[in-house]
Amino acid sequence: MLLCRPKMKECCTFRRASPTVFRLYGTIPKCSIRFPSSIPRNTREVFVGTTQHLASTGPQTTAQFLIATVRTLISLTETKMRKVIHELLPAESDLEGLGHEMHALVAELYPICRSITGNGVRETLGRLQRFIPLTVHEVPSGTRVFDWTVPLEWNIRDAYIKNSRGERVIDFQKSNLHVVSYSTPLHKKMRLEELRSHLFSLPDNPDWVPYRTSYYKRDWGFCLTHKQLLDLSEDEYEVCIESSLESGHLTYGEFYVRGESSEEILISAHVCHPSLANDNLSGIAVACFLAKRISQLRRKYSYRFLFAPGTIGAITWLSINESTAHQIKHGLVLAGVGDAGSLTYKKSRRGNTDIDRAATLAICETESKSQTLDFTPYGYDERQYCSPGFNLAVGRLSRTPHGTFPEYHTSADNVSFVRPDSLGESLSVCLHVVSILEQNRTYLNTNPKCEPQLGERNLYQSLGGGSDNKATELAMLWVLNLSDGKQSLLEIAERSHLRFEVIVRAANALKEHGLLEEVSAQSLPRSTERQFAN
Ligand SMILES: [Zn+2]
Repeated sequence: MLLCRPKMKECCTFRRASPTVFRLYGTIPKCSIRFPSSIPRNTREVFVGTTQHLASTGPQTTAQFLIATVRTLISLTETKMRKVIHELLPAESDLEGLGHEMHALVAELYPICRSITGNGVRETLGRLQRFIPLTVHEVPSGTRVFDWTVPLEWNIRDAYIKNSRGERVIDFQKSNLHVVSYSTPLHKKMRLEELRSHLFSLPDNPDWVPYRTSYYKRDWGFCLTHKQLLDLSEDEYEVCIESSLESGHLTYGEFYVRGESSEEILISAHVCHPSLANDNLSGIAVACFLAKRISQLRRKYSYRFLFAPGTIGAITWLSINESTAHQIKHGLVLAGVGDAGSLTYKKSRRGNTDIDRAATLAICETESKSQTLDFTPYGYDERQYCSPGFNLAVGRLSRTPHGTFPEYHTSADNVSFVRPDSLGESLSVCLHVVSILEQNRTYLNTNPKCEPQLGERNLYQSLGGGSDNKATELAMLWVLNLSDGKQSLLEIAERSHLRFEVIVRAANALKEHGLLEEVSAQSLPRSTERQFAN
């Protein structure tokens, strides 16, 4: 299945946000945008994946000849970067193994008690250093970061509720979710009546332990299953929380990978949740493996991978790096990318940036269902990157959106809730997004007055013939028609409903024949003035 199937409501909001660029979607739902209806379905399949498999029945059609010709040209003229990008995308068989490796990392990190500060974050980052050379930053408590202040550092060694027989009826050693994160230290005996207001459970899911925090209000509490709560009898309980809340540091990890350009792609994941697998660990694992893969290849962009506690970590990073944050040209927050649900891309605040286009194209080009959501000022750290003072082109990749699945922020978001195949697909989509951004170019048609003779250049044998050649013809015609020095290949792919890979191939072939010249991103031409990158 090549078609993405977002909800109609989201299709409509997508169109509203970018009326000019997306106007061709105006009369058809986004779920059918991949190709115009005049192109038969078997034509689409020619372009799946690496497009190695042409239809093999019968004599070679004109379309097949055209495709073969374009492929030959490309194989002769591929740029170095294109080869690099090709290497970026893992084979299906590799993805399966990577999915299991990421799942193993999730399982390894799962028991660690993380919070927005403390040793749990340090231990997590330390384990990631086995995969990538993260730089660990420590920001002192009390540091002013915009309207916020880096809080005291919280650590915990043990916590329990013992009944009068000395039995641990609630035990932090069994699950770190049992203690409200940032609970103040406590050792006191109390009756159930006094204890009850500090206990949190989920009556609708009586076997699950909820996840609660109290970062900015000094308090303490325990989370337990509703069954455990109902089992508590009138008794005197010994309540102990061996925690510390002291001046220390906020810790975050950063991995910068230099590219040919100083322009950056930011990948950000939060590292502040304790034993929660999808919310937290899935994003960490995918970001880590993405970083490892990208760092091994040549690239146009520089990449910055940020592993920081949610909200306060992103705010801290932006505060420290305010003067250079403008170098971030595209960004993705990764959160909740390991569950079995379909892919979701949440657009940046600006809503019509290249990352919005690339991510939407990438999830639509997977074989799974997907949806694109408009920006809202609620969610993960895209809230900070997209705050009006920065307004960075940063969107968010998730699977099932947070808060919309019952396991969210409960003990049921465990290692088995996260699936290797989902992690693998999420990694693949991230690489696809990156490959689109890396290959995106803006060209100027050097023969803009009427169509050039493609046949004379062996790009084009015939404009007539069967319907199978429509996609190839269309790719070249779209690229020639829209390459006005302003519209990028990404915009052309979007508007033509053709796969980005097909558009790139057509553009490479046309460029090879002198029909396109690349335009510098910094100096898009005015009507009569051409300025080229090379
Ligand atoms: Zn969360």
